[in-house]
Amino acid sequence: MSRPELRFAGVGHAYALKTAIKGIDLVLPAGRILALVGPSGCGKTTLLHLAAGLLTLRTGSIDNGFRNPAVMFQQPRLLPWKTARDNIALGLKAAGLPRAECERRAADTGSAVGLDAIALGQFPHALSGGMQSRVALARALALEPDLLLMDEPFSALDIGLKAQLHRLLLEQQARRGLAVLMITHDLMEAVRLAGSVLVMASGPGRIAHRVELELPALARDDAWIHRTTAELLQDAVVRDCFGLEALPPAGDSREVRA
Ligand code: ATP
Repeated sequence: MSRPELRFAGVGHAYALKTAIKGIDLVLPAGRILALVGPSGCGKTTLLHLAAGLLTLRTGSIDNGFRNPAVMFQQPRLLPWKTARDNIALGLKAAGLPRAECERRAADTGSAVGLDAIALGQFPHALSGGMQSRVALARALALEPDLLLMDEPFSALDIGLKAQLHRLLLEQQARRGLAVLMITHDLMEAVRLAGSVLVMASGPGRIAHRVELELPALARDDAWIHRTTAELLQDAVVRDCFGLEALPPAGDSREVRA
């Protein structure tokens, strides 16, 4: 049997008369991470919602061969009246699993993302932002998805927590052979996590630049990530996507006066 993939061909979307995205082609095979990165308003969320089936497709085609997708949103979206353990178990309960099985799987997945028994018994208001993100990640992973759709899930976290969650995601992704489609406006986050980085431009939203990064994400250190991001930011198309000024031509060393 062939390995599943998610494939967009000529996908577009308009809100009333306004074209949000146009001519999107992409392929995400099993076990890969693909990051869509671009400035605010370029259509990242529209694209993710089309992949998740939250918007009706009208232009182009989307073939989703994955059987069990899960979505992780920008905010953890935890139910305040339920403990961390019960929040993780929500999808399992909705799927009709017996209570004991829900609790066991919630505890196992919580532990896999670094939540101990005390944290699992807490209500969301007593958990830090980083812990809440772990609960949200565990809630998605508990469903044993083969495709994870992520909408800037770590954008509100500080640099240290973000690094912890990035590592956790990469470890879980590698262990479970997950396919991940992640949207972000942070080029460095895309370079840190993804095998395929697709840079989007606005007006209408489209893919303007593609890069494949062969070094496994868990083998990338900060120096490699900074260097690769800086190299991408030398590209005139990528600069234009983010509204950055064009670089002066090579050899143009303008004198800087005090
Ligand atoms: P951000 O990073 O700010 O979340 P984005 O790249 O995810 O932005 P989208 O949210 O997909 O972009 O929006 C793409 C375009 O479509 C924007 O111009 C936005 O104003 C418009 N848009 C999004 N949702 C709607 C809607 N429900 N009705 C009308 N226009 C919309």
